[in-house]
Amino acid sequence: MTEIFSFKCSRCGNTHEGSPSFAFAAPTYVSQLHESQQKNIIEAGTDLFRVKDGEHVHNFVRVCLEVPIYGYSQPFIWGVWVSLSEKSLERYVSSWNDVDESDMYFGWFSSKLPYYDNTLSLPAKVRPRKNGIRPYLQLEQDGHELANDWCTGMSFEKAQRIAEICMHHD
Ligand SMILES: [Zn+2]
Repeated sequence: MTEIFSFKCSRCGNTHEGSPSFAFAAPTYVSQLHESQQKNIIEAGTDLFRVKDGEHVHNFVRVCLEVPIYGYSQPFIWGVWVSLSEKSLERYVSSWNDVDESDMYFGWFSSKLPYYDNTLSLPAKVRPRKNGIRPYLQLEQDGHELANDWCTGMSFEKAQRIAEICMHHD
């Protein structure tokens, strides 16, 4: 399980090396805001977004979804966003520098991943990690392909296919 993930790309012909890792700079909800709604963004950071929506505030935190690849020690990593309730966010932020790894925050998946059928609003649990490592995400087993992959892993061929889509944006 020490092999380095690498493949000859069917799109560009180059060899891409290293376990795939793709991140989204903002939650899909935020990227889809109309220009006139951008003033509702009250906080925009690398790990946190807060957006006003009438009386309500949408909170999003950045996490890692780590999907195992068969035969490789390093997973396919998605840098994605998850919504959190106001109450969860309070605890999340206040314990940021003194993480309790037994904490678990319920949220809804808030990034639309390529390749998969709509991944928005999949039920998820955010698990914080110590030493400034981004929290990891657990997906509920509701039959969605992404949840299955996260739980049981995916083949090298599938990881390559998804990586090619991400790298060459189609
Ligand atoms: Zn390529």
